[in-house]
Amino acid sequence: MAKNEENFNCSFCGRHKDETLILIAGLDGHICDRCVSQAQQIIDEEVVQTDKNFQFTLPSSITPAGIKEFMDQYVIGQNDAKKVMAVAVYNHYKRLNQGLGDEVEIEKSNIVMVGNTGTGKTLLARTIARFLKVPFTIVDATVFTEAGYVGEDVESILSRLLQSCNYDVKAAERGIVYIDEIDKIARKGDNPSITRDVSGEGVQQSMLKLLEGTEVLVPPQGGRKHPEQKMVSVNTKNILFLCGGAFAGVEKIIARRIQTQPIGFSTQAEEVDTENLLQYISPNDIRTFGIIPELIGRLPILTYLEPLDAKALKAILTQPKNALVKQYKKLFSLENVELIIEDEVLDFIVEKALEFKLGARGLRSICETLMTDVMYELPSQKGIKEFVLSLAYVQEKIDKKIMKRLRVAS
Ligand code: ADP
Repeated sequence: MAKNEENFNCSFCGRHKDETLILIAGLDGHICDRCVSQAQQIIDEEVVQTDKNFQFTLPSSITPAGIKEFMDQYVIGQNDAKKVMAVAVYNHYKRLNQGLGDEVEIEKSNIVMVGNTGTGKTLLARTIARFLKVPFTIVDATVFTEAGYVGEDVESILSRLLQSCNYDVKAAERGIVYIDEIDKIARKGDNPSITRDVSGEGVQQSMLKLLEGTEVLVPPQGGRKHPEQKMVSVNTKNILFLCGGAFAGVEKIIARRIQTQPIGFSTQAEEVDTENLLQYISPNDIRTFGIIPELIGRLPILTYLEPLDAKALKAILTQPKNALVKQYKKLFSLENVELIIEDEVLDFIVEKALEFKLGARGLRSICETLMTDVMYELPSQKGIKEFVLSLAYVQEKIDKKIMKRLRVAS
């Protein structure tokens, strides 16, 4: 029998072929584009995927030194932070694989990193997750509010973690969460007020259980809970939480503490490196800053990141596996052009980045400013084999940019 042209309807929703973008034929029926995407949504929500090659045990050949070596490929400097993290992560895995019923229970090694913006806190967290091959997510502490207030509940952290691993609950339960800007939920002022402090202490309180380990019902789509939404139960006992923040002004707290501290048994006062006070940070300092003791107790490992000097910034431009210079050279080589960058240009970029006080973050935007014109023009110019980024060229670009800004301002 000849196929009935009129009978081209979606077997799921009944829409006629004319009402769809595309109607796919199967053996005994059809499916339209809308039903395909709805079906995909259902799959994403319901199916527990385990095919992402997540890894839950460290190979026995891995040592803390090996973990640090891996981090060295991506993160310049920050040796103290790397060491502390390598040991914490190594112990975290020992803890995960600890047999049940052991008398001595190893506690979780959640970490706080203190350091200026753009010094590599997020990069460290991201690198460690890459090394461990576990689900990873970054959340910003400033979006959270106490339950009942406008904003996100802290449980939404887990929604994001679940999303990052396609709702594989088992994988998420051993993932890593990086909570950025933890300093922004510090208690304001030293005297806790009787009126509720929506953004500060209450949020810290609501994070306690999560960090320690508890069973949480998570709305899979994040945000506020809707009664009709199906909840997913996630146990946070084995999730590693890394927190980072600039803790602006904490140096003053450290300086005050060091000055008033009795010298103890040492007869000679140790020389204090006043240029980099963060290296002396102690849990007491972040408590004075406004983090409640209970939260500090659940973040037992405290480390710091050094400010990046010119030498470190120059290394960041050229050395890491995906260094900016390597990325631009690659982009040019895809156009069959060799990019040559004069050494003085690198120094110039570093000088500007230090001027803008954005840490390594400034490097990227400066490079973009310098390279946009050439990257715009090059693809339409034939026969060019190499491009030399000279000091004269970049100085002219920066001057033009500054002139433009001045014109806008005046
Ligand atoms: P933070 O979280 O401390 O504000 P990020 O880790 O987000 O800073 O750093 C911003 C960018 O700067 C990173 O993506 C990375 O490219 C670069 N960067 C910062 N610090 C370092 C570092 N120590 N080594 C290599 N790159 C770095």
